[in-house]
Amino acid sequence: MTDGPLGPGSCPACGGGPLVAWRTVPGSDPALPGDYDLARCPSCGSAVTLTPAPAKAHEEGAYGGGTPRGSRVAAPLLRALDRRRLSFLARAGGRPPGRLLDVGAGRGRFVARARAAGWEVDGIEPSSRGVAGAIGLDISLQQAGIEDAVVATGSLDAATLWHVLEHLDDPGRALERVAGWLRPGGLLIVGVPNLASVQARAGGARWYHLDVPRHRTHFTVGGLHALLRRHGLQPVATHHLLAEHNPFGLWQSVVSRATQTPSWLYHALKRNAPARGRWRDAVVTAVALPFVPVAIAAEVAFALARRGGTVAVVARRV
Ligand SMILES: [Zn+2]
Repeated sequence: MTDGPLGPGSCPACGGGPLVAWRTVPGSDPALPGDYDLARCPSCGSAVTLTPAPAKAHEEGAYGGGTPRGSRVAAPLLRALDRRRLSFLARAGGRPPGRLLDVGAGRGRFVARARAAGWEVDGIEPSSRGVAGAIGLDISLQQAGIEDAVVATGSLDAATLWHVLEHLDDPGRALERVAGWLRPGGLLIVGVPNLASVQARAGGARWYHLDVPRHRTHFTVGGLHALLRRHGLQPVATHHLLAEHNPFGLWQSVVSRATQTPSWLYHALKRNAPARGRWRDAVVTAVALPFVPVAIAAEVAFALARRGGTVAVVARRV
């Protein structure tokens, strides 16, 4: 289903290129300092992080585990957002009964929600911390990455890749495998940050969803659609109104222009903010908090203009 392996310098999204040098940005996490080079595709506008990620990038800093501040308050909100993800599938004709796989399941929260909705659900998750956390929810996840997961060919009615694809150096190879697990007509839902969004432009090198160096591929909607099509997956719906990531991403990206630490509130909630500049950043954040409703209204407008900060694309396996 692929066009064959991509040459060096090709765009991992659309396969075009060659990529051209774009910008050098600081690490998005205080635990991952340094400068990271990005290159951009002249065809689809997607970008890649050229500088390799440290081996433990997904275990340090904001990803270091532990319970974030305010997580109990957020729980009902997260349940509502999981239901919305299921509604994207339902609107494209993906309804239980059926077999669903959550790829990159974390601690299995979405697996639990989909099971409660009537799906027969499995999850795969590469981190031992996620798999261990899921046991508390009475959920058994397969500890594996996409490369080494054991899933029968053509066995799935639906799969979800929720903020996973941007973490991969070769998203095409991963998508090739996931597409093979789906039956013909099966649905895939992919959530990623949108480099073609208004908030990506507003945030620049400090865009909240840039998350360098963990994010390896920075997709535009056009680039993601091209990637899906190259792997036999036809996009059927693209959603820009995503309460889970978009208003906060816009607000945080703008506030990051005035704080010393990028995404200070996010890191403070993750117990990951450095002591340096803490009080100044806390004051700037407190002053900016009343503007959260403005960010919500703005992201609704940007979603109507198809420029949301993150997108969810539903695609059907041909
Ligand atoms: Zn491209």
